[in-house]
Amino acid sequence: PYVVELRDVTKVYAGNVQALRGVDLAVGGGELLAIVGPSGSGKSTMLHMIGTLDRPTSGTVRIAGHDVADLSDRELSALRAHHLGFVFQRFHLAPGMTALDNVADGLLYTGIPLRARRERAAAALERVHLGHRLGHRPEQLSGGEQQRVAVARAVAGDPPLLLADEPTGNLDSAAGAEVLRVLRDLHAAGTTIAVITHDMEIAGWCPRQVRVRDGRIVADEGSGRRAPAE
Ligand code: ADP
Ligand code: ADP
Repeated sequence: PYVVELRDVTKVYAGNVQALRGVDLAVGGGELLAIVGPSGSGKSTMLHMIGTLDRPTSGTVRIAGHDVADLSDRELSALRAHHLGFVFQRFHLAPGMTALDNVADGLLYTGIPLRARRERAAAALERVHLGHRLGHRPEQLSGGEQQRVAVARAVAGDPPLLLADEPTGNLDSAAGAEVLRVLRDLHAAGTTIAVITHDMEIAGWCPRQVRVRDGRIVADEGSGRRAPAE
């Protein structure tokens, strides 16, 4: 099955705000997809649907073949923990804790013993080219490095899908490029990634670009494009 499948998804917020109006989107394993569009177009709402952080008003959301409507809130959190990694614009790292422990903490839900969590965390930090910063605390790292720690935390459990909401939004262009390079390396190694961005340069680095406007997908372009399954 697709990693992500949205079928005729709508989302209406309180106050009759129609954030999504009939969205169809299918993402296959191994894609690197940018979701682009102006502020208020519905990008974050779409990411919330894909990330099962919120439920659609109507339509179907399937993650790795699981229909979100069939799952309880408890089952949804288990699905998130095992299938999804999240990176946000703000880094959400614990201050005063080393990079290694910040990443290892993200694996608490797995029940893996501390020593093995730390080994996995070190391997994840290697994957984002921070093997030389294991003992540094967030306040001793640059913005780009902090965001790479956040990426390591998101991928340490090897989720099939990584979701990033404006991951370069707080960074200057050099640091943003650094973070994007890490995402491209992870993609090359097989991780499926969806990135929200309003930065067209960042989007241009992604093999597939989905353009959103007024709650609708208005274009879906690039080599990684997959037609929705029938
Ligand atoms: P609900 O009505 O679904 O309970 P809330 O209004 O309590 O939602 O907001 C939930 C979250 O969405 C909060 O974090 C809030 O800051 C954010 N939010 C609320 N209104 C908007 C808006 N118009 N645009 C973007 N985010 C919003
Ligand atoms: P984008 O990420 O492209 O900026 P959003 O998905 O955040 O767009 O918002 C789409 C629309 O939904 C906007 O009109 C926004 O104000 C509104 N919106 C987002 N979240 C909420 C919320 N929790 N409650 C009410 N309106 C919201």
